[in-house]
Amino acid sequence: MRDGAPVTGPSRLSTLAVHAGERHPNPDNAIVPPIACTATYTFRDTAELRDHFEGRVQREEYGRYGNPSVAAVERKLAALEGAEDCALFGSGMAAISSALFALLRGGQHVVLTADGYRRTRQFVTGFLRKFGVEATLVEPGDYEALAAAIVPGKTRVLLGESPTNPYMRVVDLDRLAAIKAQHRGSGLKIVIDATFATPVNLQPLRRGADLVVHAGTKYLGGHNDLLAGAVCGDAGLVGAIRDLRGMLGGVLDGHSAYLLHRGLKTLTLRVERQNASALRIAGFLEAHPEVERVFYPGLASHPDHAVAREQMRGFGGVVSFLVRGDLDRTSRFIDRCRVPRIGPSLGGVESLIEQPALMSFYELSTAEREAVGIRDNLVRLAVGVEDVEDLIADLDQALRA
Ligand SMILES: *Cc1c(COP(=O)(O)O)cnc(C)c1O
Repeated sequence: MRDGAPVTGPSRLSTLAVHAGERHPNPDNAIVPPIACTATYTFRDTAELRDHFEGRVQREEYGRYGNPSVAAVERKLAALEGAEDCALFGSGMAAISSALFALLRGGQHVVLTADGYRRTRQFVTGFLRKFGVEATLVEPGDYEALAAAIVPGKTRVLLGESPTNPYMRVVDLDRLAAIKAQHRGSGLKIVIDATFATPVNLQPLRRGADLVVHAGTKYLGGHNDLLAGAVCGDAGLVGAIRDLRGMLGGVLDGHSAYLLHRGLKTLTLRVERQNASALRIAGFLEAHPEVERVFYPGLASHPDHAVAREQMRGFGGVVSFLVRGDLDRTSRFIDRCRVPRIGPSLGGVESLIEQPALMSFYELSTAEREAVGIRDNLVRLAVGVEDVEDLIADLDQALRA
């Protein structure tokens, strides 16, 4: 524990969140690791420089290759995920794009679900295509289609997300692992973006994933005050991704690492609170006469409820629902809410509410949005840590008005 020993069981997550990865005693005897605010590192003499390049000493060299504040958070997150190693990035998209660049080359193929994060989908199906990487999108929950989409010898990545946005689909990791097992020796890797789950609710590496990626911007940071990304997995894969990070340059800086570290200390407290509040709010909304339908994996009405119950420790803090009414009535409901603020993102202590039709899908027409499964009356609520009674009372007055 003192030197960030790896996790041995899922029951110690709170202790790990507080203590893992930290080094005590340190030169200042500081309980909080100091912020390493430096672009480069100095060498005592040429002999030390030679020792560094010949691997006789372990030390930092230059800011793009490493930073002690960043390394401390990498050790903590690796412990929380049960991973050998973790590499941090300046944003979730820097983490995802760098990981995929490291895993793939021209002529290879990715299978991903159609409901993945929009920028990830655009990166894989649009940008990577320029480098000769092909991609097949499959509908969430269709494991036959997913298995059939694999081209033996060519497909190198199965890219999933869990839970997804905005319908909170939960991927059955056991089924993914079984599909992967049919292609043993082909180099096929399972990569899961578990941003919405966090290691508190799901540890994909323990169920057969090869890499787990996070937008640390969301729950891991937890305070809507930083951008960060993370990739966790075995030392070989993460080492290759970290080497590429030194070239692509998407590193996290010391100040953001400090904020992320501070946020991680309360990760389990926040996520457990958000799980409990979101479950209550989902039940309240499902029974509300002004609500047409609720999408939350903790509800028996959700298509992935059984998988979520079996594979997750909690169902997460995001609830999506259809308000009875059209685009404008839904906007009026959102404008009447007083506690959640209107904005993209999720996972912070402040509740955030948005109408996907007017946020991520603004430039599309109603018909085009329906074609991609986004109704005008859809609302996404990212539950914060406010009192759940206040949130429920606020939603109720806004729905009834
Ligand atoms: C926000 C998000 C990302 C991107 O993270 P950034 O830090 O904004 O780059 C990726 N995946 C999911 C699921 C997200 O919610």
